[in-house]
Amino acid sequence: MANRRKFLQTSLAGSLAILGAKTGFTSGDQKVVGKPIVISTWDAGLEANKGAWAVLSTGGRALDAVEAGVNITEASKNCCVGLGANPDRDGFVTLDACIMDEAFNCGSVAFLERIKHPVSVARRVMEKTPHVMLVGEGAQKFAIAEGFPLEDGKLSDDAKRAYDSWLKKSDYKPAINIENQKGHGPFAPAILENGEWNHDTIGMVAMDAKGNLSGSCTTSGMGFKMRGRLGDSPIIGAGLYVDNEVGAVTATGQGEDVIRICGAHMVVEFMRNGLTPEAACRKAVERVVKIKGAKVKDIQVAFLALNKKGQIGAFSVHQGFSYAVRSSKEEKLYASKSWFNK
Ligand code: ASP
Repeated sequence: MANRRKFLQTSLAGSLAILGAKTGFTSGDQKVVGKPIVISTWDAGLEANKGAWAVLSTGGRALDAVEAGVNITEASKNCCVGLGANPDRDGFVTLDACIMDEAFNCGSVAFLERIKHPVSVARRVMEKTPHVMLVGEGAQKFAIAEGFPLEDGKLSDDAKRAYDSWLKKSDYKPAINIENQKGHGPFAPAILENGEWNHDTIGMVAMDAKGNLSGSCTTSGMGFKMRGRLGDSPIIGAGLYVDNEVGAVTATGQGEDVIRICGAHMVVEFMRNGLTPEAACRKAVERVVKIKGAKVKDIQVAFLALNKKGQIGAFSVHQGFSYAVRSSKEEKLYASKSWFNK
């Protein structure tokens, strides 16, 4: 733990400096970016936004954009999203994802194994079943019936190495914001020199040229989680929520603490009551802080929001949460403000 705190003190300042250099400013909060627009979590969002932007910039629907965008991350080599990601403590990669459109239609899959694009299966759940959520074997069966190939289930080389190293100590200690440490972003090798492994997610929300909102969220969840553990990412209202009258919100970080407060839904409701996206995200973070007490120093939770006016905002418990924005005016990575560095 001491190591991790030291890491936080030293590397977060560094990663913000990097973000500052990339963006020229530290926060995009309260900016009205307008439409169409897509925003997504962490540095991986820059690549994912490209996929979404191909849809949005040609007049496409926000729902198609948020699926296409996160499909890129799901197919990429990274520690924390898609089949190349970190396994559970039994050595299996299990994936969680959800998607929501402008009309409260939503779909979700959880504990899904050997399927490359969980968010696309979630969309089929939304469009082709009377249900919102399918899990485990049933979700996999549904995916196969829908024509998704069953992949081989082998761990990627990086994941295998990380798992073997984890087995030696069998100790789960997620490190905060490792996504932004140089060389260890979502597209970098998954294992750290010190053998630690992080959890991460891509969450994306978008508004299309017609002004309709949609969102998606996909992850492998916590590395070395207990088998069967679900985080917030596949849970509508926790990892993602969209209300087309108000705004769209996604979450990342310690899923248990997002679930506890119905995080994404809470942020939407704060916006409904008049708060800007940043203020709404901040209020939800403050709720987490209040509930966790002293333990909050050990967790990261971050919210990312877009309102109907095209304003964006984010807030996190710890420094170091980045998010990517793409619109006709900009393609940028921003650093969120945080509770520990107000
Ligand atoms: N929220 C995800 C989960 O708890 C992981 C993350 O975003 O870091 O599964």
